[in-house]
Amino acid sequence: MIDMRDAAGEDRVLVLYKSYFRDRTGQRAGEVGTFLDVSELKRKEAQIVHQATHDELTGLPNRMGLRQRMEDHALRGGPDARLAVLYLDMDNFKTVNDSLGHMVGDIYLQQAAEQMRQMVRPQDTLARVGGDEFVVVLQDVQDERDAAQVAERLLARFTDPVRVQEHELFVGTSVGIALFPDDGDDPDTLVRNADIAMSRAKEHGKRRYHLFTPAMNERAMRRLLLEGDLHRALAAGDITAHYQPRVDLNTGLITGMEALARWTRADGTQEHPAEFIPLAEATGLIVPLGEHMLRLACARTRALLDAGHADLHVAVNLSVHQFRHPNLVGMVADVLAATGLPPSLLELEITESTIVTDTDHTIRKLNQLAEMGIALSVDDFGTGYSSLYQLKNLPLTSLKIDRSFISDIPDDPNDAAIAATIITMADRLGLRVVAEGVETPEQLNFLLLEGCHEVQGFLFSRPLPPDDFTALLARGRRLTVPRDEGGGI
Ligand code: C2E
Ligand code: MG
Ligand code: MG
Repeated sequence: MIDMRDAAGEDRVLVLYKSYFRDRTGQRAGEVGTFLDVSELKRKEAQIVHQATHDELTGLPNRMGLRQRMEDHALRGGPDARLAVLYLDMDNFKTVNDSLGHMVGDIYLQQAAEQMRQMVRPQDTLARVGGDEFVVVLQDVQDERDAAQVAERLLARFTDPVRVQEHELFVGTSVGIALFPDDGDDPDTLVRNADIAMSRAKEHGKRRYHLFTPAMNERAMRRLLLEGDLHRALAAGDITAHYQPRVDLNTGLITGMEALARWTRADGTQEHPAEFIPLAEATGLIVPLGEHMLRLACARTRALLDAGHADLHVAVNLSVHQFRHPNLVGMVADVLAATGLPPSLLELEITESTIVTDTDHTIRKLNQLAEMGIALSVDDFGTGYSSLYQLKNLPLTSLKIDRSFISDIPDDPNDAAIAATIITMADRLGLRVVAEGVETPEQLNFLLLEGCHEVQGFLFSRPLPPDDFTALLARGRRLTVPRDEGGGI
């Protein structure tokens, strides 16, 4: 193979085929050569290798390219060579993609990749290993502190909002760190362990970094076991509903309750919804789990009506995954028919991610549910990207202000302003507004003054097992704040 430059200045690769010819006595008399220009073939080959090892959107190495580089260079250092693998996952990227579209999402990722490229040294490797997941391999680090410093810088960079077109995006990132050789000595193990550490960072509240520890492997194992257990728990009826009352601030009366999933194991230990609901969503189990919860809630409310508690509304959470299920509307109609609950007493809580995804399809389903007479509320309002247009045009009945805006009232003036604004806006749009997570008399007072319609929170009652909730109702529909916490309303 011969590399050369042709007269036009282009690089070419030639292959020379040689054969000899002999004279009559059999002696070698000379040779003939044919040059074959394989430049184009070589270019194609390089292109194919490049495509297989790189990500098209950002031009960075992909998972395969990363593994190759780690094998070729990174893990070949001397005996003292240490390196760090940082696994980054964007915190809110999915919301951006779902609500603002893939175009905005793509531009965001390209910008993010470019910013990271500028932050790492030439000898380090930056790769895109998944939709919104990146890996940085830092060469020659002394110890975990070096890696932590880089992680801090990356976190800081992604804390600031990023402008894409007319949008101001707050995406943020979480980082997991694994070190070579301590946490693994082959690329796959290192990347997997950094990924596990990243999940841990997310569980701890996002926008932070976490170092891998062997205990995390146990956690990952536990999640796997949990998934199997959840299957069985659902089949065995170990998933039940607890009920938390909602109180009308005008009348002081209980208007209804929210059904919240609870999982109690045979040995009495509880699994938390914050853990098993996301797992159910990730595995698709949320579809049967959601139907099970709806059935429980409707049946229990029917029984309470029959026991003389007129006009009780029950709110049931609906995951965005249930919305994608083709038979959602039919399933809800079946459950109402089977339990005999009037549709007007059912409220379905959807999240902002539901109303911003798959818009046409979603609007159709929401309209069908609304036409049946079911109330529709937006849960955790204020944490997503729904637009005023959607709030105005969808058949919604109420907004539930997310607990995160309520918890620091009245100390945090920004949260107070946000809560007050949501109340005014909802009121103007003809929507009812419910504050979630009300824990203190001060919060209640603030919400009363701002004209919030309903509240739900530990101040009045925690979510209760069905029998305790029935007992609560039996004491009357008027719920008072315990005396030592500041008198009734
Ligand atoms: P969510 O629908 O926003 O429910 C409110 C959560 O806030 C509940 O947590 C409730 O126990 C908690 N909470 C209520 N008042 C207070 C308060 O004053 N202070 C504090 N600190 N917390 C309060 P929980 O039961 O752990 O549920 C967490 C989330 O899990 C729910 O948030 C909901 O998104 C999801 N979830 C629960 N059950 C179901 C279900 O059946 N289906 C679906 N799809 N999601 C569910
Ligand atoms: Mg809810
Ligand atoms: Mg909520």
